[in-house]
Parts: sequence; C-alpha cells; structure tokens
Amino acid sequence: MFFPFIDPKYLLMIAPAFILAMWAQSRVKGAYNRYSQVMASSGIPGYVAARRLLDAVGLYEVDVKRVPGELSDHYDPSKKVLRLSDGVYDSSSLAAVAIAAHEAGHAMQDRTRYPFLVLRTAMVPITTFGSRFGYFMLFGGLILAMFTNVSAISLAVAWVGLILFSTAFVFSLVTLPVEFDASRRALVMMERVAVVSSAERVHAKKVLDAAALTYVAAMFVALMQVLYFAMRLLALTSSRD
Ligand SMILES: [Zn+2]
Repeated sequence: MFFPFIDPKYLLMIAPAFILAMWAQSRVKGAYNRYSQVMASSGIPGYVAARRLLDAVGLYEVDVKRVPGELSDHYDPSKKVLRLSDGVYDSSSLAAVAIAAHEAGHAMQDRTRYPFLVLRTAMVPITTFGSRFGYFMLFGGLILAMFTNVSAISLAVAWVGLILFSTAFVFSLVTLPVEFDASRRALVMMERVAVVSSAERVHAKKVLDAAALTYVAAMFVALMQVLYFAMRLLALTSSRD
C-alpha cells in the first residue's frame, strides 16, 4: 500500500496534471509546425534575428551558435552563448525568429541580473541533488516504515526525502517568471528591431505562449507529486498518534 503506482489516489491526483502536460506538449509541437511554414516578411533568419536583438542592447560579447536537435535552443549563461537548433538557426519562419528572440531574452535577463534567473541558476545543483536523493530517501523511508511499524526514524527519513524532493517543484515554479519574462522581452524587442511586423508579432506570441504552457504543466506535475506524498506522510504520521 506504500507504493504509489498502484494507488488510485496517486493516479487521480497526477493524471490531470499529466494530461495537461501532454496536451501542452502537443500544442507547442502544433504551433511550431504551423508557424515554421509561415515566413516573416523581414526575411531575417533566426541567427540574424538573435544577433540583431543582442546588438540592440549592447550584448556584442554573446555568441550565437548552432546546436543539433529539434527545439534544443537555449542560452548558456556560464559560456555567454546562445545556441539555436538547425530548424531555427537558418529559418526565417515566425516560429524560428520567435524562438531565437526568446533565447536572446534570456541573455538580456543574464545581463541585467534578473533576480529569478539568478535564483534559478543558483538552484540547479541543489535541485539536481534534491530531486534524485530526495526521491530515494522518500521511498527508503516509506519502505522502512512498512517493516518497522511506522517507526519515528522511518518517518523522519521520508519527510526529509520529501523536502529534498520538493526542490524540483520550487525549481519549476521559479522557472515560470524566467520563461514568461524572456518571451515578453522577445516580443517587444522583435518589433523594435524590425524582425517582425506588429501583425506578425501576434503569431510569434502564439508560439511563445504555447511553449510557456509546457512550463506551467511541468510545475503542476511536480506540485501534485509533492502534495500526494505530503498527504501520504501526514496520514502515516497521524496513524502513530
Ligand atoms: Zn526559455
């Protein structure tokens, strides 16, 4: 009864968040496929769009490079490099320039020391450790509880595990303002440096909004997992009293 995957309550709590995540994923694919076919009237390819945005705010030192894969675009704050996937780098589609501009938005956040980006970067090692080790401790504690008649030590291990595990949720929460802000900056700047017209900006926004929704869904999945295990542990803790 301690194992989550055969517990109907677990499925009931996780399923809606999971469905939202799948739906968001298919929406971002759909928006990307659709607006990959619609070319920006400026005819500027993704890498030039990123370069224009970066230069417009004086970020000459940030390099724009190519990276393999689909939708693997990202900004690397440690190396000050903006990496664009093949489908974005050379393409002048609305999807491509929107994604390139979004990544340039992250570079702008880095330059202005945008607080949520600073926090998010600082959280990476804690989250990597916490989500792996915490999950292990949480399950270790639950299994120990099963064999020790819910001993105090087993509960303590499980609670510490859950707290460590919930760093993944906090990380996904901090990611939201970072992503929304990067898209907001991208949309303003794209029009300002004439990468898109104001009419095209509406379509570029659709691509970026679809991408943002995947981060919201990921946050919900993480939240529901933490809530489920917290509920589980509270029930076990009170069963001892
Ligand atoms: Zn982003």
